Amino acid sequence: MQAQWHVADATIMGTSVHVELWHPDVRTGKALVASVFDELRRIDRLMSPYKEASELSRINRDGGQHTVKVSAELVSLIRQSQRISELTHGAFDITFASVGFAYDYRSATRPDRGRLDALHSGIDYRNLITDATASTVSLGRPGVKIDLGGIAKGYAVERSIGLLQQHGIGHALVTAGGDTRVLGDRRGRPWLVGVRHPRARSKLITRLPLDNEAISTSGDYERFFEEDGVRYHHIINPRTGDSARQVQSVTVVGPDATQTDGLSTSVFVMGVERGLALIDSLNGYETIIVDRHGELHYSQGLEAR
Ligand code: AMP
Ligand code: MG
Repeated sequence: MQAQWHVADATIMGTSVHVELWHPDVRTGKALVASVFDELRRIDRLMSPYKEASELSRINRDGGQHTVKVSAELVSLIRQSQRISELTHGAFDITFASVGFAYDYRSATRPDRGRLDALHSGIDYRNLITDATASTVSLGRPGVKIDLGGIAKGYAVERSIGLLQQHGIGHALVTAGGDTRVLGDRRGRPWLVGVRHPRARSKLITRLPLDNEAISTSGDYERFFEEDGVRYHHIINPRTGDSARQVQSVTVVGPDATQTDGLSTSVFVMGVERGLALIDSLNGYETIIVDRHGELHYSQGLEAR
């Protein structure tokens, strides 16, 4: 029994990746784990804003001047991001990066008021023009930048699970940072995925039983620095260009990891009231929100569970 669970960890896309899958054959199991890591690296090469040769970097370099031709896959994920922007009235917006690139959480750097004001006009998902038929992207005007950090890990996890499914795998879990998708159950019992306490590293607020579902958590504790008691962290409110401060963490559960990833970032920006209303309006999605006082809020379906 034990030997047929294949478990492995790696650091890819700047985050911890964890894979578990069930396969009776040791060699095949190992090869499938390796193919998941390869898939995550492939997506990182395509979409990383830090890799100069990525297609995303090419869009950021040239897309303000003219239309850029990229892979259908990248256009498709950008279009999915645009749909989430519309759904959330701009709370989710990949052009946040127009300001976002001026923050460096490791070196505690942030734009001053003047710089922020100057960069802020670059944030507006309506600047982005995508053409699925021509497979092109345009940023609309100079000064606009994009970053898929709020959705790419979920997408990569979803793709990895799809790949395992194609190879006949029925039981697996793939995690990249705060995004997880499970395939099937854990052979007779549900997978249990812990939700981290946003202010106590080793504590969990709960463990959720999952079967063939995705779960994403967005938190203000992942990348941040503090200055004069104010926490500057990596989730940006597109309206202000400053970190979103309504909540400490958001977990979203649902059928698709690309969506749970995009939605957890969205709800983080939207806050408790608008966030719960959004998730309650979507079929199959649930959320747990830890507000800025540390209080828990549940969507209707979880409240019932
Ligand atoms: P997550 O952990 O999925 O919430 O993703 C956080 C990442 O999303 C950040 O590190 C940024 O790359 C990106 N991001 C930050 N603010 C936004 C926003 N308002 N809309 C879309 N992506 C964002
Ligand atoms: Mg996200």
